[in-house]
Amino acid sequence: METLSKINETRNLIKKWKKQDFTIGFVPTMGCLHQGHLSLIEQAKKENDKVIVSIFVNPLQFGPNEDFSRYPRSLDKDLEGCRNFGADLIFTPSLNELLPEKNLVYVDVDLLGNNLCGSSRPGHFKGVCTIVAKLFNILNPDKSYFGEKDAQQLAIITRMVDDLNFNTTIVPCPIIREADGLAMSSRNVYLTPDERRAATVISRSLKATKALLKEGERDLLILKSYIINSLKTEPLANIDYVEIVDHSTLQFIEEIKKPILIAVAVHFGKTRLIDNLIFKEV
Ligand code: AMP
Repeated sequence: METLSKINETRNLIKKWKKQDFTIGFVPTMGCLHQGHLSLIEQAKKENDKVIVSIFVNPLQFGPNEDFSRYPRSLDKDLEGCRNFGADLIFTPSLNELLPEKNLVYVDVDLLGNNLCGSSRPGHFKGVCTIVAKLFNILNPDKSYFGEKDAQQLAIITRMVDDLNFNTTIVPCPIIREADGLAMSSRNVYLTPDERRAATVISRSLKATKALLKEGERDLLILKSYIINSLKTEPLANIDYVEIVDHSTLQFIEEIKKPILIAVAVHFGKTRLIDNLIFKEV
């Protein structure tokens, strides 16, 4: 496994691989890797000759009062995980390498970036898309792997690839959870023991909502208030949003006719967690 932080050296190695007709799978991350990230690497390894993992904590996707400076970093452990899962190249550019000066050109995200996390985190998806577009241009991957955990990000990146004709195929990967149902996240390390226990209310609420959907409930108001009320049974949970939207356009719906995304964001103390449920059997 190689670890490179310079764009030129990375491009040279990829050129060499392309000449040998190797297919390339790419897993973009912000590091502090857990089983969720590793599952993306595992899937990429199955489907490609070479796997690249990028580790870059992207300042453009953090708001001024968010956790950029204290975002958990664990490079040595991350490299070990990547090696164990068969990654071939870890791209770890410094801030100065990837963003040497303030950008004057960004990827603008229209409607898709306005609701859900986009309304709680203005500019977040513009920051995500700008860096992911740069990584696509540097690494030139055949397939790129994104988790359904960040469902809005996945929908926006999929649309960016279509709208801007990037030459990579986006592969969605399922949410990996802890044994008690909590969706794995690098931010889970922020939780106090009490908050960690309380945070399981999210997956419990989503699971119960799925059961309700399976029983045939389709009334959006009933479904939404059911999730809100079940989240509220946990005193430490402070709801940021609960929304039911069209799975591919992320727009609000009036009735359930196509696959839906039920997305939630909940604060536990200073930590904001997201999770979601995709329901396709409509
Ligand atoms: P991050 O490092 O948080 O930017 O995440 C990098 C990639 O890993 C994104 O595509 C995430 O959606 C994905 N990811 C993060 N947590 C999980 C999880 N629990 N299950 C599946 N994928 C995940």
